[in-house]
Amino acid sequence: VTSTVLHLAMAGGREFDAIRELLAIWGDVAVGIGDDAAVLVPPTDASLVVSTDACIEHVHFRSDWLTPYEIGGRAATAALSDLAAMGARAQSVLVSLTVPQDWRARLGEVARGIGDVVRMAGGRIVGGNISRSQTFGITLTAIGAAVQPVSRRGAQPGDMVFVTGVLGGPGAALDAFTRGHTPADWLRTRFASPVPRLAEGEWLAARGVTAMIDISDGLHADVAHLARASDVEVVLDATRIPCGLSLTPAEALASGEEYELLGTAPAGVASALGEAFAREFALPLTWIGAVEARTGAAPVRITGIAAERDARVEIAGGHDHFTG
Ligand SMILES: [Mg+2]
Repeated sequence: VTSTVLHLAMAGGREFDAIRELLAIWGDVAVGIGDDAAVLVPPTDASLVVSTDACIEHVHFRSDWLTPYEIGGRAATAALSDLAAMGARAQSVLVSLTVPQDWRARLGEVARGIGDVVRMAGGRIVGGNISRSQTFGITLTAIGAAVQPVSRRGAQPGDMVFVTGVLGGPGAALDAFTRGHTPADWLRTRFASPVPRLAEGEWLAARGVTAMIDISDGLHADVAHLARASDVEVVLDATRIPCGLSLTPAEALASGEEYELLGTAPAGVASALGEAFAREFALPLTWIGAVEARTGAAPVRITGIAAERDARVEIAGGHDHFTG
């Protein structure tokens, strides 16, 4: 790594100044950067799992609601959460930044946010790219290893549906920001500093879950993704959804960017799995529904919620990257 930094220093220029600054911030979380490409050793007894995720100012975040550190951390969480949903362990991350002039002074804090989340996840930054641009953007490519990769396509009729954590916080925080209010502390924390559930995903994958997805678009939307991919119907019991303090099931159903895990497991293992999970991670795992054979109706039916609320949920429908 030392010789790599030296190589970049000799290259000179403003882009290299920025790279040197980032490498100094990342310290030992950045490994082997400076060649034309990163060299990775493939795992011998596992599959490689790779995902890429772009986070663009004015599309995915606003800089008046989040600090630069939080913007970096959330981008890393979004990318790593996709590995968690596959039951993969984080290994390597590539960081591509597009930086307008007015973001140059904030770049160090963004990098610190990225580096801290990657470090906590047990991963390493192995390469990347910085380019000047009109728009600030962070694109992360996350590479992991999974002994038993879990797809979103594996749900079977008779399975039970679980979700990790407590839902609704990010949506409620976003709602407060949008109305010009300051969200309560725990809502803001859930929105600004989400955690990728990597250890949890790997643990669940090793214990026979049949399908998994991370909640990025909202519980309702992501249950629908899982149900469609598995060609099944899911019946959710709204009264069982773990909602944050003072939040309603409708709010929890529509709240995106939770980065909790949603999945299915055979009914026979459900109760033992939930109890062992809560002991292992000090995080709730809640059974919120059941998988049924597809009848051609909507992929998700929600029970236990008032009709007018149900209508609101349909309208909210979760976050759509191309319209929201
Ligand atoms: Mg995902």
